[in-house]
Amino acid sequence: MDFDFKKPLSLYIHIPVCNAKCDYCAFYSVPKSKIEKSAIQAYTDGICQQIEDLTKQMDMPFYTAFIGGGNPGCLTVDQLEQICKSVCKNGRPVEFTTEINPESLTEEHERLFEKYLNRISMGVQSLDENALSYMGRNVTLKQTLRGIDLACKTKKNTGCSLSFDMITCLPDFHNPVEDLQNLLNQCKEVQPDHLSVYALTPEEGTPFYKRLEEKKTQDLPNSDEQAEILTKIWAFLKDKGYEHYEVSNFAKKGKESLHNSVYWNYGQYVGLGPGAHSRAFKNGTVTAYEVHGNIASQSVESTVLTKEQALEEFVLMGLRHKQGLDLNRLENEFGYNMKLLKDRILDGYSIKNGRLVPDDNGLLISDAAALEILH
Ligand code: SF4
Repeated sequence: MDFDFKKPLSLYIHIPVCNAKCDYCAFYSVPKSKIEKSAIQAYTDGICQQIEDLTKQMDMPFYTAFIGGGNPGCLTVDQLEQICKSVCKNGRPVEFTTEINPESLTEEHERLFEKYLNRISMGVQSLDENALSYMGRNVTLKQTLRGIDLACKTKKNTGCSLSFDMITCLPDFHNPVEDLQNLLNQCKEVQPDHLSVYALTPEEGTPFYKRLEEKKTQDLPNSDEQAEILTKIWAFLKDKGYEHYEVSNFAKKGKESLHNSVYWNYGQYVGLGPGAHSRAFKNGTVTAYEVHGNIASQSVESTVLTKEQALEEFVLMGLRHKQGLDLNRLENEFGYNMKLLKDRILDGYSIKNGRLVPDDNGLLISDAAALEILH
């Protein structure tokens, strides 16, 4: 992969293993029981080799790094450390996150947060037993509560940043605000710095999708009901001191995800592992890379994006977050005709300090706003 190593480079590492599959999940991952221990070690070694090949070409650390999945907690702590060490060969990234499922976090992980990592992203999804069972989640409520307690303890002991993922827009048996309040109550001594709250989306091919299609489960709320739920959540989290800075993301002041901001600001990043994506910016061209394959073998497909494709990605990503779209880059890097812009700005967006920024209403219609600009 051909990156401009003089520019900041962020790193995403995909760990395609889970303890078991959740019914709603369409990400590529293999249940741990179906894979040999030696295959997980071989995968870890392969990832470390790729990281080290990259660090040899760089004279600075990765800007940000994110170990995601799957569930990186399915690796042993030693295997995770092996990856962390490779990532930090040239120094520690400013933000270094690992995702981890509640059932997998242990006290032993704390040493990784002392030496390498500085952010936990934990998929809680819900503290409502009915919701966990409706979604076909692979973790029990008891395991989830234990994981939250341990994540809070890790933050207290190491000063790392803490983010939880929650799922919402479930049928009316679920009270989304109460669910979030229960999460905050569970975090007694420390509060999460960051929350990602996603609407449950039925993905074709998943057991959850099949259940819905066969009418074997209660239907999801329609789009008006979903908008109502999201508005309630936004008001609740604002009241608790979280800024709504991206369509699905909320943070305490200064605690926005730097890694995800690289995607939204259309920065340079490399993705390793099956299904991972990369964007390389070199000599005025944008090259997209996609990793195909599975845990045992992978290949990389590269595509040089046309100006139009790069512009489309830049606008779609830029309008999703409160920092907004950089109009200087829009004109100079992507050749957009700025005379057309004024008539194409939808309500909910306005120009501030050289950027096109959304308010809360704008965030609800960011895709439509992008299409209008790309018209
Ligand atoms: S733990 Fe996460 S990645 Fe694994 S199956 Fe569940 S939702 Fe998907």
